[in-house]
Amino acid sequence: MCVDHKIICKCGAAAASFNLRDEIMPVEVIRGLYCPGCSGGVAFDPETMIADNGWVIAYDMEIARFASLSKMARSASGITPGFLFDEGYCTWKGLYPGDAEDSAREKAELLKLSRQDRLKYIQEFRNWTFKRMERLAGLGWRKAQSAG
Ligand SMILES: [Zn+2]
Repeated sequence: MCVDHKIICKCGAAAASFNLRDEIMPVEVIRGLYCPGCSGGVAFDPETMIADNGWVIAYDMEIARFASLSKMARSASGITPGFLFDEGYCTWKGLYPGDAEDSAREKAELLKLSRQDRLKYIQEFRNWTFKRMERLAGLGWRKAQSAG
C-alpha cells in the first residue's frame, strides 16, 4: 500500500510528497517542512532535523521513537533523523521533492523522441535512469548520493 502524504512547507510556497515505509511512522512524525525559500530562517538541529539540498525536514523524535518501539521493537537509541530518512521510514517520495512530476515530464519528452527516432529513443531511455541519478547526485540530493 502506498499512500501519498503531501506536506506543505512552512511558508506555503512549496510542497513535498512523503513516503512512509510500511506505514510504521504516522505522518505526524513530520513536525515541519521547510523549502529552500524558508529553511534559511530555521535554527538547524541535527538531533531532530535532516537537511537535503536546501530543504529541511523537522521530525518529532518522540513520535518516531514511540512508533519504532511499539511497531518494530527497536530501541530508541538508534532512531535518528538520518535513520528515518535513509531507511525510508519518513523520506521523500522519489529522490527529491517533485521527483514524480519531473520524471513524468522527462519520460513524456523521451516519448516524443520515440516517434522521431525509435533506436535513439531506446538508447536514451536506457541511459535515462543512470544519467538522471548522476545529475541528481551532482546537485547534492541525499538519496541520489546514497544510491550511487
Ligand atoms: Zn517554504
